[in-house]
Amino acid sequence: MNEGKTGRGAAIDIRDVTKSYGSFKALDGVSLHVEPGEFMTLLGPSGSGKTTTLNVVAGFTDVTTGTLLVGGRDVVGVPADKRNIGVVFQHYALFPHMSVGRNVAYPLGLRGVGRADREKRVRQALDMVKMSDFAHRYPSELSGGQQQRVALARALVFDPPLLLMDEPLGALDKKLREWLQLEIKRIHRELGTTFIYVTHDQEEALVLSDRIAVFNGGHIEQVGTGRELYDEPATLFVGRFIGDSTVLRGEVLRGGEGTCLRIAGETVATPRRINGNGTPVMLLRPEKLTIRRRGQPATHAQNRLSGTVTEAIYLGSGSKYEVRLADGSTAIVRSSLADESFGIGDDVALCFEGVDVKLLPDDASADTSLT
Ligand code: ATP
Repeated sequence: MNEGKTGRGAAIDIRDVTKSYGSFKALDGVSLHVEPGEFMTLLGPSGSGKTTTLNVVAGFTDVTTGTLLVGGRDVVGVPADKRNIGVVFQHYALFPHMSVGRNVAYPLGLRGVGRADREKRVRQALDMVKMSDFAHRYPSELSGGQQQRVALARALVFDPPLLLMDEPLGALDKKLREWLQLEIKRIHRELGTTFIYVTHDQEEALVLSDRIAVFNGGHIEQVGTGRELYDEPATLFVGRFIGDSTVLRGEVLRGGEGTCLRIAGETVATPRRINGNGTPVMLLRPEKLTIRRRGQPATHAQNRLSGTVTEAIYLGSGSKYEVRLADGSTAIVRSSLADESFGIGDDVALCFEGVDVKLLPDDASADTSLT
């Protein structure tokens, strides 16, 4: 193990990769560049192609077409054990008949590292995951979280320039998962290794990643920081997958420099322009909406939509409401503790600025492909 940040992470270039099983395309033209030392997360619903992409990079799955560069080297056709990549799976995959210390030493033995150096590096790797006191235990004597920390030490002990992780925290409970997320983040920061991480949990992706690639149906919809994906989703699918959102459909009254829409019988104005053909959908984030009792003096916000509260959820730090609008669609609003609270059946107005509206090309498949 290198001490301190090494900056030795590899750049990864996935170029137009497809993977077919018969006539089915599990990957359909996936391209992704990962910077050296970056933490990239592959995020998407079940079956969207995240694990297949990871397996292609690891060398466990061949590509059908396309190119793959790891640290500038074309690795298509190179066997997995010759790629020098660390891998951590959801299920810990430790050798049950070996102690923790021997498990972590295993990759060093394969690489012919001498005994003295091996012991030092195993110690450093176990220190890094805070498992030094457990070197003599066997995997069956460890909790799930501890086993996963050992698996991480084993994957990093030979200083790979790239670490791949496939839902490594998926089998753990929420509290432990949240703690280990911060541990993984710390280790990434300390090492400077490139990390590619698979999850279907958007909160986990937001906590961990420098950038996130959002997968849908075997292709990447958008790559960006969590903030970019949340604030400026390129597609309806991304807007719905990252964070809570209200999606409303209506008709365009006026396009051009600014846009006027008729939504649920009311007029909404926004400085945003319509991109692409067809009637756009309007996407709003819950914190951009202010909820008021109907009939109360209006806020200064540019737009308002009337509705009735159908669900009120107390969150501790505030409340979340579902509001049914005149056309039957549902809006989601979040309010803070300082705001007035509302109950089911209350008639309310939702106020928002036009600049906070996102206009996106409609995509009916975004509703169903999220499940
Ligand atoms: P999950 O989060 O459920 O693991 P994923 O996004 O990782 O999903 P993949 O495991 O990459 O999805 O699978 C992508 C698609 O490829 C799925 O429809 C899956 O059924 C299909 N697939 C994967 N492996 C094979 C295989 N060996 N033969 C046929 N189809 C496969």
